[in-house]
Amino acid sequence: MEELLDGLNPSQQEAVVSTEGYVRVIAGAGSGKTRALTHRYAFIVNELGIDPANILSVTFTNKAAHEMRRRVKKLIGGEQDTGFITTYHGFCVRVLREDIHRLFYPKNFVILDVEDQKILLREIFEDMGLKLNDKTFKRILDKIGILKGNTHYVQQMILRGQMPSVEESGDLDSQIIQQYLKKQKRVYGLDFDDLLNFVFTLFEQNKEVLEKWQDRLFYIQVDEFQDSSLKQFELVKMLAEKQGNLFVVGDPDQTIYEWRGADPKYMVDFENYFTDAQTIFLKENYRSTPEILSLGNALIRNNYFRVDKDMLPVNPSGVKVVHYHGKDEIQEAKWIVSRIKQLVEKKRANLSEIAILYRANYLSRFVEQELIAENIEYTIFGGFKFFDRLEIKDALAHLRMIAFQDDLSFSRIINVPKRQIGKKRMSFLREKAEEEGRSLYETLKKYADHDRLRRTGAQSFIDAIEYLKEIRSRRKVSELLQEAMQVTGYEAYRREDGDQERLDNMTELLHSIVQYEQTLGEDIDLDEYLQMVSLYTDNDRADQIDSIKLMTIHTAKGLEYPYVFVIGMSESVLPNVRAIRQRKERGLEEERRLAYVAVTRAEQELYLTESEGFQNGGQKKYPSRFIFEVEDRFYDRIGELDESLIEEAKEYIRASHRLEKEPSGDFFEKGTRVKHPVFGEGSIQEVDEKKNNYLVFFDRLKAPRPISRNFKKLEKL
Ligand code: ATP
Ligand code: MG
Repeated sequence: MEELLDGLNPSQQEAVVSTEGYVRVIAGAGSGKTRALTHRYAFIVNELGIDPANILSVTFTNKAAHEMRRRVKKLIGGEQDTGFITTYHGFCVRVLREDIHRLFYPKNFVILDVEDQKILLREIFEDMGLKLNDKTFKRILDKIGILKGNTHYVQQMILRGQMPSVEESGDLDSQIIQQYLKKQKRVYGLDFDDLLNFVFTLFEQNKEVLEKWQDRLFYIQVDEFQDSSLKQFELVKMLAEKQGNLFVVGDPDQTIYEWRGADPKYMVDFENYFTDAQTIFLKENYRSTPEILSLGNALIRNNYFRVDKDMLPVNPSGVKVVHYHGKDEIQEAKWIVSRIKQLVEKKRANLSEIAILYRANYLSRFVEQELIAENIEYTIFGGFKFFDRLEIKDALAHLRMIAFQDDLSFSRIINVPKRQIGKKRMSFLREKAEEEGRSLYETLKKYADHDRLRRTGAQSFIDAIEYLKEIRSRRKVSELLQEAMQVTGYEAYRREDGDQERLDNMTELLHSIVQYEQTLGEDIDLDEYLQMVSLYTDNDRADQIDSIKLMTIHTAKGLEYPYVFVIGMSESVLPNVRAIRQRKERGLEEERRLAYVAVTRAEQELYLTESEGFQNGGQKKYPSRFIFEVEDRFYDRIGELDESLIEEAKEYIRASHRLEKEPSGDFFEKGTRVKHPVFGEGSIQEVDEKKNNYLVFFDRLKAPRPISRNFKKLEKL
């Protein structure tokens, strides 16, 4: 027990031992929330004797889940199955693999990523004789996304023995969408949205299934809770209802997914949802130097909609935060790379201790070019999308064929390498499959001798797949992949093709599986592996190589690095142009939180860089307002930043602020009695001109609320 509580402060210890009831931990970045959560998990296992199969621990990314599994394994030792340390999506997959048959879907349903969705759509466009057009494509995908914003459509998908119907009368878009649902059902494919929606439907329609899961998951804990969406919140709430044990940790100042439905209110108003909820605050920051921390604190303090909670530094003083200003992007990139070389040479930094963060993927290009020129190893999380590459998807489709023989994988690889099964023979197969209600692979097996298929590579393909299925249980996943690549002729085909990069990527895939098998120290099952990879978004590839890590700020959530460069800190980038144009405080505040997340990733040294030039839209570039919002004394300034440019920048920012806060008429004075359409009557306690709002004490509410001075529905009484 001591071991688990060692290295934790008293508040963290309290979090660890508060295993029963509804508990939330609210604390700033680097205060040891994730650490407390990990130790609490181990505590429940080691000290309460609960099996890991009875604890659900939700993290935000697969990467975070792996990391937590690794740490937990260190603490609890042994070979226990920690499969319930997972993401929301990963959890849904587990539930569905076990119980989806209740919705008349097979347990070996396939998970569709965006690429797969596009393949299905392309087929529909072809079938319907429509022209492919990127815009329509995106529009349809967006509409599908909207349809899947709630769970109604699921009913159509799960009608037993029936395909979703297509109404001829509907407009073209809705016909396409209906066809899409139909296709999805044919391949038994679920996309990311479906996963959550199907679980909801499953639980709603089968109370005993919900109860089974409630009975199984005695303890539920969630990391990064501030970024949970309503659906996600409802899911954990529902699951926790019976046992009443829910533990969440988060930092409302780090909510950066509002645009995707995240809402920090579940964190902030936790005690309203669960009476008797216990709250624990953590105040010490263990991650960063006081210099970095004060800058983060000073920055986030500019947000109005927040609960104040400064962090106290624990670490000794370090160096000042650097603001570098370049004359153009190339100079900015060159300076960054030269500083990196210094860090490596003078401070003996490993490349993997350095991270370069940015607001959007395109910003990495200049730095990348410079890193390549200087021969410095780097890895990009996101953007690069290893698992989206053609050869990787092909290789995985082979594994999926062994496991599921699903239509999607079949279509992907049946004619790669060429087996003379082109469009015509494929539509023959499709027709037969549809008529007879079989999968494409079964149909191929049945008709392999048929005239239309006799002189093709059908039989050798079948032989290969059958052989692989047969040896499957005796091989590790890595071995299976190697064999599959050989017996199907895929590897030979790629060799002939002569694209070294593709071959390298295939080797890299194999390598990543071997590595995974080794770190886990147990044999993973093919199904489990496939499930895991299909949930890989982008950033989850092994980061063991000694290389600099490049990623967006969103991806960097929860991570930490000794040396951090936040690049492209310009107006219209961070904050981004949309937030500025909208002229709404909320958009800007989310951008500021993003900046806060970025700076709080740094442990020892932090560099904020930007440069002159023009934005894509032709607008002159200025340093970000987030740089100026923090007092000069926090920075060590490098580069030629003319006084006149600073003035210009400040004027530009002021102008956008003025627009944003343009008053709409006369203002009320302090003390005025007012009426609000929702909160009712109250008195103006304070007028804040800078923030352009009133602080109103409403008679009904416990605490004053900030109300914009532009809000027209606030009436004088
Ligand atoms: P974020 O909000 O960014 O996710 P967090 O609150 O989850 O941050 P952690 O990642 O858990 O913070 O911890 C930050 C760093 O501080 C880690 O390196 C962790 O090991 C270390 N740390 C946490 N608690 C302690 C402690 N009590 N003593 C020493 N180091 C600690
Ligand atoms: Mg964390």
